[in-house]
Amino acid sequence: MNKRLETSEPDGLKMLREPFPAHQISKLCKPYSKESQKGNCKACGGYHGLPAVTLDYVGHAALTDRLLDADPMWNWEPLALGPDGYPVIDGNGGMWIKLTVCGVTRIGYGDAQGKTGGNAMKERIGDALRNAAMRFGAALDLWHKGDLHLDDEPDAKHPPAIKGLSESQIVDHLTAIKDAKNGKELKEAYRHAEESAANDPVALDRFIAAFNEKRASASAATSNASQA
Ligand SMILES: [Zn+2]
Repeated sequence: MNKRLETSEPDGLKMLREPFPAHQISKLCKPYSKESQKGNCKACGGYHGLPAVTLDYVGHAALTDRLLDADPMWNWEPLALGPDGYPVIDGNGGMWIKLTVCGVTRIGYGDAQGKTGGNAMKERIGDALRNAAMRFGAALDLWHKGDLHLDDEPDAKHPPAIKGLSESQIVDHLTAIKDAKNGKELKEAYRHAEESAANDPVALDRFIAAFNEKRASASAATSNASQA
């Protein structure tokens, strides 16, 4: 039976913040270059240009499922209707919406993610719902780690994410390691990176390399002073 928590926040809104289970998280791969050779992708199981960056996201169905769990009466509507009675699409092809859950309304914005025709509107709605739901804390961890709006520019600097972590997650950890201001921060950053790479030996290798490099440069800096 569900335990009812004694706070003023409705349970439904709390439910929105619960992490999504792995099976409800979808993978979106974006090849670094449009000219990339296609191959079988270990990250998403699809066949597309490789190498590619893999982003985690919650799909429309999984998000709708969660919204219904949180509040069967949830609803969204466009922020504005044009003179023709249809939702207003802005100059960038995006649409603002109002999402209401448990009587609380927050706005969100979605675009067609490059899709055209009938699929464009569906994509726009799904994207706007994800964005508005994020304002309620839904799948916030995924938004933090990956970016569904990464541009499509080829980026040869980043080697591919083989499995487990997305490239943007890896870069976050590498940056944290590189930017550590002292030994304690470095240890902490590495520990987080190591934990997250439990199923990603390739990422782990990169974290270890970054850690060693950082430690070497740090001790080189201090050895001139008073390193024993
Ligand atoms: Zn893939």
